[in-house]
Amino acid sequence: MNRVVYIDGHYYPKDEARVSVFDHGFLYGDGVFEGIRAYNGRVWKLDDHLVRLYESAKSVMLDIPLSPAAMAEAVVETLRRNDLREAYVRLVVSRGPGDLGLDPRRCPRPTVVVIADTISLFPEAVYVDGLKVVTVATRRNQNEALNPRIKSLNYLNSILAKLDANHLGYHEVLIMNSEGFITEGTGDNIFIVRRGVLITPPNTSGILEGVTRAVVLDLAKTAGLPASETDFTRHDLYTAEECFLTGTAAEVIPVVEVDGRSIGNGKPGPATLALTKAFRAKTQAEGTEIFPRPRQARAS
Ligand code: PMP
Repeated sequence: MNRVVYIDGHYYPKDEARVSVFDHGFLYGDGVFEGIRAYNGRVWKLDDHLVRLYESAKSVMLDIPLSPAAMAEAVVETLRRNDLREAYVRLVVSRGPGDLGLDPRRCPRPTVVVIADTISLFPEAVYVDGLKVVTVATRRNQNEALNPRIKSLNYLNSILAKLDANHLGYHEVLIMNSEGFITEGTGDNIFIVRRGVLITPPNTSGILEGVTRAVVLDLAKTAGLPASETDFTRHDLYTAEECFLTGTAAEVIPVVEVDGRSIGNGKPGPATLALTKAFRAKTQAEGTEIFPRPRQARAS
């Protein structure tokens, strides 16, 4: 099917969807974005993604020219026009076209883009057997330089770590902050289970506040699994019973080896499997309807 892309209120065929080379998103990575998923005809956690988008924009003083409600409608309408029920959506708000200088004041109109496409899933074997990962030399951006909580168009920090991953021959790698605490992967948050407690790094340690991370913390609460947002080091990770990564694209992926040490018994652990199951059930059952169903005729 020929896909259409939303740009500033209009829908263009994929091949004609273009933005200016003077856009500061292109020239400087000046802008913010979201990666959103649709399952079973519903957009998963749309409001949470929009909250994060508007927070990222506020932090970089980017005035999004649409209300959150209008933005939600643009996302849903883009999925509708592409007839997608299972999808990955990329929502981008860039600073917009300006001159060749840095100054955002020269960019009067931000550019809003919504791209919807099918999602390429990780192979099922990854979920069954688990991932092997390594920690890399590239450190997470410092909060005082470029806060990783801002989901900005400048993803070079993660791309540098991805280059480490490619070079070392791993699908995903773990990034530490400058203090040596584990932060996250290139595009996923991390959890460990150590001495029966589910632990994930706090928002201040150099992570993106993942939407999936928040869902998993909620699921843990419901399941009565003690959880804590605490910094941890490689030692905690090596000696954990379980480890997994979370993200919109990845969902919940077990990690079974880190830097050559097996985690637990080297197989996805029981908490990881239970949380994965609960997560999948929730994604199938909840979300914003893309194709509102006609009201049921009342049985007389
Ligand atoms: N960290 C980074 C750096 C990411 O890019 C992502 C993907 N958006 C995540 C974590 C996971 O966040 P979410 O669960 O919201 O997709």
